[in-house]
Amino acid sequence: MVNFYIGIDFGTSGARSITINPEGTVVAETQFPFPTLTDSSEWVALWKTALFTVIQEIPVNVRRQIQRIAINGTSATVLLCDPQGISVDSPILYNDSRGATVLELLKKISPPDHCVISATSSLAKLIWWLTVKTIDIKQQQLGCLYFLHQADWLGFLLHGKLGISDYHNSLKLGYDVENFSYPHWLMNSLKSLINLERLKLPDVVAPGTPIATITPEIAEQLQLPKTCKVCAGTTDSIAAFLASGANVPGEAVTSLGSTLVLKLLSKTPVNNIKYGIYSHRLGDLWLTGGASNTGGAVLRQFFSDFELETFSRQINPNNNSHLDYYPLIKKGERFPINNPELLPCLEPRSDNRVEFLQGLLESMAKIEAQGYQLLQQFGATPLTQVYTAGGGAQNSTWTAIRQGYLNVPMVQPIHTESAYGSALLALKKVKDVN
Ligand code: ADP
Repeated sequence: MVNFYIGIDFGTSGARSITINPEGTVVAETQFPFPTLTDSSEWVALWKTALFTVIQEIPVNVRRQIQRIAINGTSATVLLCDPQGISVDSPILYNDSRGATVLELLKKISPPDHCVISATSSLAKLIWWLTVKTIDIKQQQLGCLYFLHQADWLGFLLHGKLGISDYHNSLKLGYDVENFSYPHWLMNSLKSLINLERLKLPDVVAPGTPIATITPEIAEQLQLPKTCKVCAGTTDSIAAFLASGANVPGEAVTSLGSTLVLKLLSKTPVNNIKYGIYSHRLGDLWLTGGASNTGGAVLRQFFSDFELETFSRQINPNNNSHLDYYPLIKKGERFPINNPELLPCLEPRSDNRVEFLQGLLESMAKIEAQGYQLLQQFGATPLTQVYTAGGGAQNSTWTAIRQGYLNVPMVQPIHTESAYGSALLALKKVKDVN
């Protein structure tokens, strides 16, 4: 009998499971791509189908030896449910900015520069429900209303305990991760909008904390052991960070996808809303970072993936092109330069496409280095090592160029999938991951 651990990732385009053994070796992988939905009320049923499918497709001999499951959802995808866990309105997805209509109210009630002050934060969505959808919500004879994140609700489907979350998903709801409580400003503001006896905010625990065993019905239906436990989850981007294996202060993960995203593990938290910098708690450490609008989407405007590969091989990373660009697909940057009016700079354009690519790769490497410098300037632990994820990670020429600017060892992580990070969370609590 071997113990296995499942990590389940609910990302933007689908759900995926990765099962690992106690050594962290992958023993099974399943996935469920999301179809395009026209009606947002269909999401809830689809998520349930996706959750059950990705578990049921794991070979039954593996399924029968599962010890723990952890699930990550997309950050700030939220639901409002009745006491049976049935959603009373369509869920609001991570990128839905209807919260813009309550932004002024959010600014009034929350401390200055708090990360909840955003049109897409979980709190903006809750306040939208309580103030804009107020008639529907208040008139329903539902008893209590449970506000949940996607990962909380998916866990509930397996263990049946409603109203439990983790401190990664709850950060943008306003949960105070330094003091492990909902702050007074938050509870007082909500009190003025709804009877607090009726609104149930989730009880928050550390990501990876075993919450409860699965229900006997779920054990039978999914052919899992009755003793299988569901752990508190996390968000998709933190799960991706955990997957890399970075776990020492000073270690960072750069994601070279459509955009450039930096995450640095630090002994101290760093927050600066102007630059979109905030920190997630990770045991006794802090995961801080920022996202720049530069990245692979700009490369894709000019080059096919095949050209990126062949042209990159013709670049000598030791010979600087001296082309100084600021590659963006449209106006506006937040990190490491905060300027919504910043224009893309792609001049002087070299006629030589290899040289033009070199200029772009070098310029993005400079922006990455500037990003890490800014985090350190604001008090983050100095950078010691960079893991790379995303489509650009496979480009060894770019890695060599970036190393020249970053001056720290560069590591290619073995795992980058969020589902793997959640599986690690199921294997060990996040506190022990550090
Ligand atoms: P996302 O999930 O953010 O859309 P991915 O992690 O899938 O992005 O990465 C896609 C990006 O990677 C594309 O924008 C593409 O330009 C870039 N990319 C693909 N191949 C290479 C390469 N060899 N060198 C640099 N960038 C690459």
